[in-house]
Amino acid sequence: MMKKKMNPILPDEYRMIDDFELKNRIIEKKEQYSSRLVILGHHYQRDSVIELADLTGDSLELCQKAARQRKADFIVFCGVQFMAESADILSEENQIVQIPDPLAGCPLADFANIEGVEYAWQKITDICKDQKIIPITYINSDAELKAFCGRHEGITCTSSNAAKVVKWALERFDKIFFFPDQHLGRNTASAMGISSKQILLWNEDNLSDEEIDGAKVILWNGYCHVHTAFTPEHVQKTRSQFPDVKIIVHPESSKEVVDASDASGSTGQIIQYVENAPAGSTIAIGTETNLVNRLNQMYPDKKIIPLVRSFCPNMFKINLNNLCWTLDNLGTLNVVEVSDAIKHDAKIALNRMLAL
Ligand code: SF4
Repeated sequence: MMKKKMNPILPDEYRMIDDFELKNRIIEKKEQYSSRLVILGHHYQRDSVIELADLTGDSLELCQKAARQRKADFIVFCGVQFMAESADILSEENQIVQIPDPLAGCPLADFANIEGVEYAWQKITDICKDQKIIPITYINSDAELKAFCGRHEGITCTSSNAAKVVKWALERFDKIFFFPDQHLGRNTASAMGISSKQILLWNEDNLSDEEIDGAKVILWNGYCHVHTAFTPEHVQKTRSQFPDVKIIVHPESSKEVVDASDASGSTGQIIQYVENAPAGSTIAIGTETNLVNRLNQMYPDKKIIPLVRSFCPNMFKINLNNLCWTLDNLGTLNVVEVSDAIKHDAKIALNRMLAL
């Protein structure tokens, strides 16, 4: 039995290797392990990592792709913790999921913990005894919160399928408790015609019993600092600089920014939007800088600019150095392990989403 270890500190020997050699060593490992090894890369990863990933995508795509990797013994997830946890939840018992830097977390996911969510749930369900309430957790959340949803007839969602999930939920339940990203929840519910008076923000005990009772959607008070960096002023400024510009932003941005833009969508939908735009278009994008730069290189016939540069330092923690180190320690280093009990319940919520 191989001994597993958690270690975020890259050994010196891996700091001294240049990118050319790192790349060659990673390619060698990929060839050696062939289909026994799969490297997944989120769109926000730096180019050098994306270049070596076997599969790339946004959270939903990677979740679906991770669930299909039945041949791989080792799944190395170049993304942040909650994504690697989801891959572990959906993997087979014999598969090992690793993350090159275990400190690559997500501040948005960290906004909600199980104690806070259970407290709010108790209060909301006590007040609304005659209503059917569903918890929905954005995939950017701790595995324990996905398990909570699994236990309470709830479901997960991603920014790609939030509208579908919320529609499905509203057809079956009277009220939604959505966490941890308030903006995705608000933007999705508003786009479905729910009035702002019925979309309320839970902030500890700020809401009265009447407000909780009358709400259609109760949102957790979390946000992503990368996507809330965009403001309506950035939108206005970009429009005045480029009168023909089309602006697309991620739905983790504020409603004001989404309303001022031409479109909003997940990273996968943003890529599609750029691909479908006619040659010669100018498109300003409100999402993480690494993806915007890559799209700019991929579509030289279009002018692709950032709405403003906004960078996710956690995604950037993964690099060729710690990827090479991970591949040299397959099966042992920085293994992501969700406990069986949490895995069981979280899988229910994830599979409910994947089945939609
Ligand atoms: S971009 Fe935002 S939501 Fe995505 S990993 Fe970074 S902090 Fe989390």
